Amino acid sequence: MKKLKVLFVSSELSPFIKTGGLADVAGALPKELKKLVHDVRVVMPQYSQIPSKYIQNLEHLIHFRTRVVWRNEYVGVNKLDNKGIITYFIDNKSYFHRDNIYENEDKYLQFAYFCRAVLEMLPKINFKADIIHCNDWHTGPLSIMLKDNYQKYNFYKDIKTVYTIHNLRYQGVFSRRILEDVLGIDHKYWDLGVIEHDNCINYMKMGIEASDLITTVSNTYAKEIKTAEYGEGLDYVMRMNGDDLYGILNGISYKDNDPAVDNRIYSNYDIDNLEGKYENKIKLQEEMGLPQKADIPVIGLISRLVDQKGLDLIALVIDELMQEDIQLVMLGTGSFKYEEMFKEMSRLYPNKVAANIKYDATLAQKIYAGSDMFLMPSKFEPCGLGQLFSLRYGTIPIVRETGGLKDTIQSYNEVNGEGNGFSFTHYNEKDMLYTIKRAISFYYKREVWRKMVENAMKNDFSWTNSAERYIELYNKLLTD
Ligand code: ADP
Repeated sequence: MKKLKVLFVSSELSPFIKTGGLADVAGALPKELKKLVHDVRVVMPQYSQIPSKYIQNLEHLIHFRTRVVWRNEYVGVNKLDNKGIITYFIDNKSYFHRDNIYENEDKYLQFAYFCRAVLEMLPKINFKADIIHCNDWHTGPLSIMLKDNYQKYNFYKDIKTVYTIHNLRYQGVFSRRILEDVLGIDHKYWDLGVIEHDNCINYMKMGIEASDLITTVSNTYAKEIKTAEYGEGLDYVMRMNGDDLYGILNGISYKDNDPAVDNRIYSNYDIDNLEGKYENKIKLQEEMGLPQKADIPVIGLISRLVDQKGLDLIALVIDELMQEDIQLVMLGTGSFKYEEMFKEMSRLYPNKVAANIKYDATLAQKIYAGSDMFLMPSKFEPCGLGQLFSLRYGTIPIVRETGGLKDTIQSYNEVNGEGNGFSFTHYNEKDMLYTIKRAISFYYKREVWRKMVENAMKNDFSWTNSAERYIELYNKLLTD
């Protein structure tokens, strides 16, 4: 098999900067692809928020100027060996040294610049990629720029593009005027309907329409986004491009998330020695200021606090939920109403609810390890990683059956003892509450619960299978 050269393009990348699951994927998938003996490199913007311990180790490779329509812009390319993966950082302080990485008024310009800088960098660093793998709306313009502006040149002519949708909700929607002023691509694409949706420029649609192949992060989400209910207004685009759309489930790094050696958690454990898990629970209760009781089920919740995550269902049943003998440990930031909701819950029920309104990767790990259950009642969930981390740490997910949650969590079946979690179908607070209560009732059946924890820990949602599927798709593209 030919050794492939792949450039993975992402707006966030763990461990350098992370707001959600995309960073986990961009941090882990390239490593797995590389294990299959391919030359996989990654590129991201050099934000000012990247910790200095990484920045000080960057090697400056080159710098040049590029035209972003009428602007003549500086592009610095810096490089770091990230545990074997060559990672390039696109450096331009006026674009990427901002207070916030995404919420800027000129984000259309930031990411148009990023896409162009990535394309222009390739011949200059002499990396002739076979595949450029783009992710989410920030990289949507890259394929169309490649086709319209660059493929006339020999260096670029054979490059194929893959575009992965991690979340169709965030589309990058901007005024039509940026077509002339920012993107620098031919007007015909507007007329052809390739880049326009609702009379606006849509970066997500661009990526879908102009890339050679599209993937999304679970089979169920691949089906769902072809429907009006989940298609975020672009379901017609998904249906039209349906033949080129593949669902490949995300994985997580089983090496970097291993309860047997993880030094972020209180105590290590594995499937044959679950005592350590219960030590994590007691220590978590202590750190959270909750009563330290081994026999009260602890429910973890780690999430961006946005409507997608089903938090309004919790709002509707707070008092009933709090009648149960449970503890809820939540960690998350996001919309004001949900931050206030959890703060209020912890004020009203200080012995039952610990609200951690912040971003804290170490505490996240402690919650995955120290909880008995993990709640994820999402309205939609392209793949979801929280439930996968939970399984890895022997924590039983309670989820709504949507997207990747449906593809990874099998609801407990008391007849044959199979299942790695609890789930409900309809987006409805009563069904959620019933399912939480069902989980609690099995929690007290010690043998059943132990079996479920074992089932969860025996699951394999590492990247191995999914990485192979990506390679298959890359090869298919290059031979078609
Ligand atoms: P999404 O990408 O929609 O945010 P995922 O479940 O795919 O959802 O991924 C979320 C990732 O972000 C997980 O790794 C989760 O542990 C992490 N995460 C979310 N909120 C926080 C937080 N406040 N602190 C630490 N990690 C968080």
